[in-house]
Amino acid sequence: MNAKLLIEKKRNGENFSQDEIDYLINSFVAGEIPEYQISALLMAIYFQGMSFDEIFWLTNAMLNSGKRVNLESLTNFPVDKHSTGGVGDKVSLILAPLVAAAGVAVPMMSGRGLGHSGGTLDKLEAIPGFRTNLSLDEFVHELEILSVAMIGQTEEIVPADRKIYALRDATATVPSLPLIVASIMSKKIAEGAKGLVLDVKTGKGAFLKTEEKSLELAKHLIAIGERFGVKTTAYLTAMDQPLGFAVGNWLETREAIQTLKGEGPADLVEVTIALSAEMLLHAKVDNDLESAKSRLQRLLESGKAYEKFVELVKYQGGDVTVVENPDKYVLPKRRFLFISPVSGVIKEIDSFKIGILANELGAGRNKMSDPINYGAGIVFYKKEGDEVEKNEPIAELLFEKNISDKELSARMNFAVSVEENSGVVEPKKMILHYVGPDDATGL
Ligand code: URA
Repeated sequence: MNAKLLIEKKRNGENFSQDEIDYLINSFVAGEIPEYQISALLMAIYFQGMSFDEIFWLTNAMLNSGKRVNLESLTNFPVDKHSTGGVGDKVSLILAPLVAAAGVAVPMMSGRGLGHSGGTLDKLEAIPGFRTNLSLDEFVHELEILSVAMIGQTEEIVPADRKIYALRDATATVPSLPLIVASIMSKKIAEGAKGLVLDVKTGKGAFLKTEEKSLELAKHLIAIGERFGVKTTAYLTAMDQPLGFAVGNWLETREAIQTLKGEGPADLVEVTIALSAEMLLHAKVDNDLESAKSRLQRLLESGKAYEKFVELVKYQGGDVTVVENPDKYVLPKRRFLFISPVSGVIKEIDSFKIGILANELGAGRNKMSDPINYGAGIVFYKKEGDEVEKNEPIAELLFEKNISDKELSARMNFAVSVEENSGVVEPKKMILHYVGPDDATGL
């Protein structure tokens, strides 16, 4: 086979065979096809797309480039959750211990924040000492003992994705449905879970901004999961304003801890409970949504979910004293209070603009090697639809960087709009659609 002829084939809109896809992925991972040819191939896929079979074969070839975790030793049924990425999305930190406390094994392999969106690993590593780089053996051992483990992708898991993702990042080919599906699902299948619940974000702060595109993504992710024998379902959830009140690694971890103690913001609790309940149904811990939800509420209220989080932090080497006493955490010294210019109702908090600003405050990175300030970020006092008086604080910004108040005020005014005398702003729905295997047939 010849890489140039295969690039030509995809450029012309033709479909690959399974052998051709295997050849491309295996040869690239072995260093036999240069990056410039794979970059051209990725761009051809970006424009021409892939058939469902091609996406399945691509996922399979990527999956076979590395190891698969064997979770057969677990007594609890293993189910994972994956979010397509958003701003203020600290759901995993609450959901993983909560669902584990309900008797499900949660083998969670997460990523870092990049661009405007945050990442679970950075939020966990905001806890001093927390190790996310466990070996696969340690990962399985922790699952056997605690029923939950939260780590980063190891070297052995889907090496093809690491190489391809770096090229996609550099060649503007990340937002391609077939490439996103193969990237996410190869890693999720490799991780060994038997059930998967997807949180497909849609809106301003999501990677795919429209409901239509997000729905298409959800259906493809589900159909691929099911073809690998992994029970896969999804919720489409709103990502227009940040989830909860906090944006920034430690600030989000602190909000997750509050939520685990039963004192979380309504939107964050709603999304977390919906996704967690779906995981309980996958594992057959409950047979209907209402009993799953009330079980989860009880685990939050009784402190059992919080206790599981403390066990997880302790096991992975994190400083439990900051979890038990979050006020102990040393926060950045500089503060900027964003106050409302008028009296009215908060019309919009644009999560994309807030995500970018939080990163510039030090909470995120533009390339993987950038350092981050775990304490930096933004804490809101208001959500969309809330009333606000003139000069009342809307948000506090925490940072160390040298940015002027004038610049911060302009950036916050760009991201947040307050409408004078606008009356009632209808609250937006958080859970937009449930998508199950029946919705994903016929692709
Ligand atoms: N997350 C991934 O792991 N891969 C993508 O391509 C997009 C989001």
